[in-house]
Amino acid sequence: MKKRIYAGLAICLLLLLTGCEAKEKQPDNLDNTDATAPFEAVTITPEPEERRLETVWLCADTLDFAMQIPKELTTEPKKEGNLNYVFEGINDSLSVSLQRWDQVSKPDAAALAELITRNNGQKTEIVNCGGRELVKVDWPHGEVNYYLLSEDGDAYVLWITPYVMRDPDVYWKVKQMEESICSIQNVPKGEESVRAEGTSSKELDYYVLIDKKHALPEGWEENLDLVSMVNSVGDTVRAERTAYKAYLELKADLLENEGIDVDLDSAYRSVAYQQEIMDRFTEKYGAAYAKRTVATPGYSEHHTGLALDLYFRLDGVEVYENEDLVKYPEVWKRIHARLADHGFILRYPGRTDGTVDYTYEPWHIRYVGSAEAAKEIMAMPAFSFEDWLAAR
Ligand SMILES: [Zn+2]
Repeated sequence: MKKRIYAGLAICLLLLLTGCEAKEKQPDNLDNTDATAPFEAVTITPEPEERRLETVWLCADTLDFAMQIPKELTTEPKKEGNLNYVFEGINDSLSVSLQRWDQVSKPDAAALAELITRNNGQKTEIVNCGGRELVKVDWPHGEVNYYLLSEDGDAYVLWITPYVMRDPDVYWKVKQMEESICSIQNVPKGEESVRAEGTSSKELDYYVLIDKKHALPEGWEENLDLVSMVNSVGDTVRAERTAYKAYLELKADLLENEGIDVDLDSAYRSVAYQQEIMDRFTEKYGAAYAKRTVATPGYSEHHTGLALDLYFRLDGVEVYENEDLVKYPEVWKRIHARLADHGFILRYPGRTDGTVDYTYEPWHIRYVGSAEAAKEIMAMPAFSFEDWLAAR
């Protein structure tokens, strides 16, 4: 946990001891559409000290986020097949989950609120929590969402879902969780906490080799820490977290020093998605054509989340079709010259010596984890990653 989180410790404890009970009023009717208000007649007797003993802090460092959740929800935190989940705690009466959500192209709370309303038609409210703006959505029947942005501009959504509406105990827990969200930087020292999974960087082999002869290692996709963004033409693109961070640095560098405005056309593609493309092409054009034009599922470097396809804007005009992109060798030369500084290599320089037989793809770059390795690879004859790996 970051040190500054402890900074508000004293204030937070003081608030915990004195402020929370006083703030708790007669509960609002959570279901605006129902005249037989589920909570209207319920008197809350919170016994706050006792209840607080049952809570732990859910922390997510990369988000700079923490909240209090009932302890019983942390005993078996679930991380299901959905890679976007960073935490899910669930029992018979209540669930809490934290998920990644698509990044907005102009990441601020107002843009986020607009996007949410457009997507799900719900009214949103921007809540200021200690200088940080969260977007809140109240659903009928008591469910509540908070959308928040990380420093990187990734959007996350927190779901608090009560299943048992008329239970004052459940009501109290929901209220307590909501209150704690505004204590983001105030995790009391020594308090028990559970770390949201998936947000800490995993040990990834950034030198992983995927080509026509080398398949994606087993279990790779399950371990992949992905972030998603929306590019300038409105497509959602997902990429491995560290690679994406490095890409943002490359993008800023190119804009500032070369005046080139790059964007991501494509990055992570799942094996399942690649299979779908293969099936579609086989059905439409026959197996021979499909095999020639589509990478075999399991053998595309895009499965790693570390391969990115770039496009760029020239004089405000998007150049993103491959046949147009190849018309700008001078622009690519300037882009390629800056790749290694940010840990990227050019993967398909158009070499045909038998080891790499992909055609020239100036847009396809690959993250290898460090500038040091990238510089070594880019210094190899024809930038051969295969040769560099063999020589290690
Ligand atoms: Zn590619």
